[in-house]
Amino acid sequence: MLKIGVTGGIGSGKTTVCKIFEVLDIPVYYADPRAKLLMIEDQNLVKKIKKLLGDKSYNADNSLNRQYIADIIFNNKTKLDALNALVHPAVKDDFNRWCESQNSPYVLKEAALLFENGSYKSLDKTILVSAPLELRILRVMKRDNHTRESILSRVKNQMPESEKIKLADIIIKNNNEISLIPQIIDIHHQLIKDSNAKIH
Ligand code: ATP
Repeated sequence: MLKIGVTGGIGSGKTTVCKIFEVLDIPVYYADPRAKLLMIEDQNLVKKIKKLLGDKSYNADNSLNRQYIADIIFNNKTKLDALNALVHPAVKDDFNRWCESQNSPYVLKEAALLFENGSYKSLDKTILVSAPLELRILRVMKRDNHTRESILSRVKNQMPESEKIKLADIIIKNNNEISLIPQIIDIHHQLIKDSNAKIH
């Protein structure tokens, strides 16, 4: 089975694209919500996070103390990188276990960070969902009721789209000018062909 990454900047439309692939019966692993779950359920990971950020990282009911963690990592890139370095191997193992239970010519892994942390190297191909920055900002302002400034501060922490374009194998344009569905159907057919070619 081929393992395909789907990534893109904040508000580019990664989740929207993946929902369309799901309609075509393609299984999708959503790395970001899954990582949040592992940060609670994977006891080995919990232990490491407490060691890195302190016991206060968890509330009395074992849920994540999001505000406490956000306050530390928002202003401390070293701690943010260290936290990512703990969480990513756990997600990678979890994704590989999940793949074993899927029966499909290819599966998708949707993740905001694929190029930044090198996880794209263990995938067969990557799809970048691309959209102009201004449109991405307007979409997220509408979706999350966030201010332009708070979105821009998150954009600054991401790899620029121009760099991601160089690393991606396939690009989906989600710019309100080209329809998404025909682009996705073309890619779907190509990936099924690629998967058959890999088997035979
Ligand atoms: P994030 O990085 O914040 O998780 P994302 O890349 O997964 O975002 P989506 O949540 O899929 O992006 O899209 C952002 C918002 O823009 C959503 O509200 C979605 O409904 C809307 N959107 C995405 N693509 C389109 C489109 N082609 N037409 C209309 N609305 C769209």
